[in-house]
Amino acid sequence: MKYDRIYNFSAGPATMPVEVLEEIAAEVLNYKGSGMGVMEMSHRSKVFQTIVDEAEADLRELMGIPDNYKVLFIQGGATLQFAMIPMNLMKNGVADYIVTGGWSKKAYSEAKKYGKINLVATSEDRNYCYIPDLSDLPISEDADYVYICENETIHGTTYHKLPNTKGKPLVSDQSSMFLSRPCNVSDYGMIYAGVQKNVGPAGMVVAIIREDLIRSDLASKIPTYCRYDTHAENGSMYNTPNCWAIYVCGKVFKYLKSIGGLAEMERRNEEKAAVLYDYLDASKLFYGTVDKQDRSLMNVPFITGDKEKDAEVVAATKAAGFENLKGHKSVGGLRASIYNAMPKEGVEALVAFLKEYEANH
Ligand SMILES: *Cc1c(COP(=O)(O)O)cnc(C)c1O
Repeated sequence: MKYDRIYNFSAGPATMPVEVLEEIAAEVLNYKGSGMGVMEMSHRSKVFQTIVDEAEADLRELMGIPDNYKVLFIQGGATLQFAMIPMNLMKNGVADYIVTGGWSKKAYSEAKKYGKINLVATSEDRNYCYIPDLSDLPISEDADYVYICENETIHGTTYHKLPNTKGKPLVSDQSSMFLSRPCNVSDYGMIYAGVQKNVGPAGMVVAIIREDLIRSDLASKIPTYCRYDTHAENGSMYNTPNCWAIYVCGKVFKYLKSIGGLAEMERRNEEKAAVLYDYLDASKLFYGTVDKQDRSLMNVPFITGDKEKDAEVVAATKAAGFENLKGHKSVGGLRASIYNAMPKEGVEALVAFLKEYEANH
């Protein structure tokens, strides 16, 4: 492959579009005649302000974000949001959580520090291999919000239908599926995503939050940085932001627009994931761990059912030049993360390898 790159199936930080990396490489020493690179410029400069403004405008266009939602670029990863969400969104001190895997479980545990958290549904009984029926949940009357992780990166499940929150604002962690398909933003109170899974480099979260949920009457003990109103009032630049991540994500937004937007991205993702799932469904050696109707298009865990064999396959994939296929310890086996930037050829090459491995073992 060009530049001796390999097919990298990492769950995150993850593979990025070569076209974007090439553009960045060309601009690293001198961004558009400014005489300096983006890593070196003041975040208060005109040239950087244009980068932020374009990134936000392009994201708004890609997702069709309504005017009554703010777009915020915040540091601290998705993990800081596990705390910021309850700190900021709780008025009654009550929230309902749906736990469908490792990431929603972490968010749930963190939120418990801040109020009364109800577990209204979970798929823990079968190691999070499905999304429970969410059509008639025991939503608390005084719940400030309902929380989900829309794509569980470790367990490989996705919501193909959103829960019925009975009128409460829905808060969704979209980290490992952000921009993988069209999204009707007005179905949510807040969407957030750590960008290092499906968009750009590590160290930043994009938060899309309905304006009426952003409060200015929060307790004075909440750290200034951890308030959404701080970021909203200062155009995501209360302090020095992650300039580099904003710049690179902006490039990816433009790239997604250039290929035809999120509908085209979804078409490609479906086609690509089908290559792997069709193989797994036909295989006598491997099987996918997730119930078919809840499978993720982004993270595909699969196992042989024998831990030693799994380890042998992982080692063989590595020797053949496929990186980061070892499954997370809580599921075992293998996991192929096939985000937006993984080309279909990468999945085809992996499937060809697995087929041959199966034939020889
Ligand atoms: C990776 C991940 C996180 C944590 O992201 P950090 O940026 O490392 O804090 C949270 N949620 C989901 C769904 C993830 O995939």
